[in-house]
Amino acid sequence: MSLNFGREQLSIPGPSVMPDRVLAAMHRPSPNIYEGELIDLTASLFPDLKTVAQTKHFATIYISNGHGAWEAAISNTCSKGDTILVLVTGRFGQGWADMATQLGVKTKILDFGDSADADPAAVTKALEDDTDHTIKAVFTVQTDTASSVQNDIPALRGAIDAANHPALFFVDCIASLGCDRFEMDAWGVDVMVTGCQKGLMTPAGMSFVFFNDKADVAYQNADLKTPYWDWHPRANPEAYYQHFCGTAPTHHLYGLREALNILVLEEGIEAAWARHQTMSRAVWAAVETWGCLELNIKDPAKRSQAVTTVLSKNDECGKLRHWCEHQAGLTLGIGLGLAVQGEKSWNNVMRIGHMGHLNPVMLMGALGTIDAGLKAMKIPHGSGALDAASAEIAKHFTES
Ligand SMILES: *Cc1c(COP(=O)(O)O)cnc(C)c1O
Repeated sequence: MSLNFGREQLSIPGPSVMPDRVLAAMHRPSPNIYEGELIDLTASLFPDLKTVAQTKHFATIYISNGHGAWEAAISNTCSKGDTILVLVTGRFGQGWADMATQLGVKTKILDFGDSADADPAAVTKALEDDTDHTIKAVFTVQTDTASSVQNDIPALRGAIDAANHPALFFVDCIASLGCDRFEMDAWGVDVMVTGCQKGLMTPAGMSFVFFNDKADVAYQNADLKTPYWDWHPRANPEAYYQHFCGTAPTHHLYGLREALNILVLEEGIEAAWARHQTMSRAVWAAVETWGCLELNIKDPAKRSQAVTTVLSKNDECGKLRHWCEHQAGLTLGIGLGLAVQGEKSWNNVMRIGHMGHLNPVMLMGALGTIDAGLKAMKIPHGSGALDAASAEIAKHFTES
């Protein structure tokens, strides 16, 4: 008989767990969308969003998921026939490239496989080979949510600079923002896209595009611009409705306000990055101790702090996901497009999401549930995983 008669937990890499305070903030009648509280609340979001992105430049809000932000970033900067260089380190860089292709942009792909980060030297080489500067921009993800690799964004900026190439630098932070350290301006990122349903802890349905003056120069000549995705009126509206090209996503804005209260005003972005570092180390320690699951990214310095992809050999991942969800109320992430032992196997990849609203109670609950699942299904595993995880949490307070 199932034990799942309590609060369920979603530990997938987005959507992430929504704080009760975010849900409560949304539980209200529709506000006036022409004057008053909502207008002020919306204005208050931008400084805090820019703090999360670590930028002083422009921020826009779209009523869309992350794919909408992808399209907005391309259409505001590119023209049909332009060429971009896309770094693929799992699933999501390819997804962004496919969208660019469908919009008529030519893509050059550097594919680094399913378990490695993008190699800066290869980026420099590709840009040096582009002697007539055809490549308009370099696109990458910070965290690839399929492989759980974290790309070294400052190193990739350095790689572009080393080639003395004028390409713009676009980064997808949909999985990583608010979890992995990210400093848009200091790291020389020209366009950054993200969504609200991962590190930003708000129900899916809003996305954000941040851009700087250099990207705005590209905007002037971009012939893929369309009225709805145009970032100018959204970033510099003369009338409130232009922020959203129509009716505001009223309740999402209330939810986001509360999420930013928690993340920016109460915890602070630096502390949130440090918390995610501790949470991710706890996950890795547990996985390594169990021994029956393998971390997809071997080098800890290249792992995401938002999601951990693990592999198995004998369908353990599929069995665990099923047991945890149905017997215990814990939903773990399915594998996404990774080839395992030469085959795509849903049952030998899984992803543990640890982004956003997460404290040791929730994390240890998830790890303890997986531990119980291993025992219940008699999957051979090392003991002491929870000890190893709690030791990492304790280190948060003993190591400065
Ligand atoms: C989730 C995710 C996306 C896609 O976002 P949607 O909201 O599902 O459109 C894109 N890139 C990365 C890195 C993601 O994690």
